[in-house]
Amino acid sequence: MLVPGKIVLDHAFANHYAVGAFNANNMEQVQAIVDAAAETQSPVFIQVSRGALKYSRLIYLKHIIQAAAEEHPEVPIVMHLDHGNSLEVVKTAIGLGFTSVMIDGSLDESGKKALSFEENLALTKSVLEYARPFGVSVEAELGTIGGVEDGAGVKRIHVTDPAQAEEFVKQAPVDSLAIAIGTSHGATKFSGECVLAHDVQQEIHRRLPHTPLVMHGSSSVPEELVAIVNTYGGKMPNTKGVDIPQLQQTIQHGVSKVNVDTDGRIVMTGAIRKFFVEHPDKFDVREYMGPARDALRDMIKGRMIAFGSAGQGPKIKQINLEQAKQFYAR
Ligand SMILES: [Zn+2]
Repeated sequence: MLVPGKIVLDHAFANHYAVGAFNANNMEQVQAIVDAAAETQSPVFIQVSRGALKYSRLIYLKHIIQAAAEEHPEVPIVMHLDHGNSLEVVKTAIGLGFTSVMIDGSLDESGKKALSFEENLALTKSVLEYARPFGVSVEAELGTIGGVEDGAGVKRIHVTDPAQAEEFVKQAPVDSLAIAIGTSHGATKFSGECVLAHDVQQEIHRRLPHTPLVMHGSSSVPEELVAIVNTYGGKMPNTKGVDIPQLQQTIQHGVSKVNVDTDGRIVMTGAIRKFFVEHPDKFDVREYMGPARDALRDMIKGRMIAFGSAGQGPKIKQINLEQAKQFYAR
């Protein structure tokens, strides 16, 4: 069923695992995500970016995700807005029935200019004030994650300042905080080895010992998945993702949600390219979307196991937004 983000985040935080947050734009992706969650007994965030909302004309994805919840009532599913950039977008998502929203006040609405600490704080507070009465959970971001997502983003990474993080959450008590420690969106996250600022991450956790932290831009971009794309006519040079052991290290220190989008894009693209090369005579949509969906499901299952969320779903006491309102009123 659809549950508020907070109950999953708090469970993950208390039990030292991370819930995977996977992006969806269409039915096959939603099915792959929820099937992976059902098969591994994992809670899951299905996250929808502004671009995905636009692409799916708002209501389509809402109903597809609700269908997933109807098909799998046993799976705790969080319907989450990824990178909301204004109170207006948050209002739209909450109006659609989202159970969790991210307000990314690290950048302005154009996505090109960094907002100041005070501007980010003011925007996040306005979202908290709006979302709480609905029982909707709120994720904020401090520092800037590099790379471009849906046409918005900055090249440079500004690693989160631990003292600022402490001050930020004190003034805006969000349910989770996205931090920047060297990851970026996209398929080329590092020019050489994967280097994360583990010392900074651990210091943030020390200062915020009760706040679940979120890692964005955390696809692993496995060479074997990129190789399938490139073998079957694709062109993806110089790819580099986040090493899973390094992610697991952050999960030991308060990271409770890990976002994975790029890996899903690569695995589906590879499966479809392979199918077309091997079966140039075929033209039934189901024949290539089916294998792409299966490949995405299998990749996600692997992440759920790696992040430690497999088997945790049945241990979470599921509540709806109505019950979450009382939760926040306490
Ligand atoms: Zn992100």
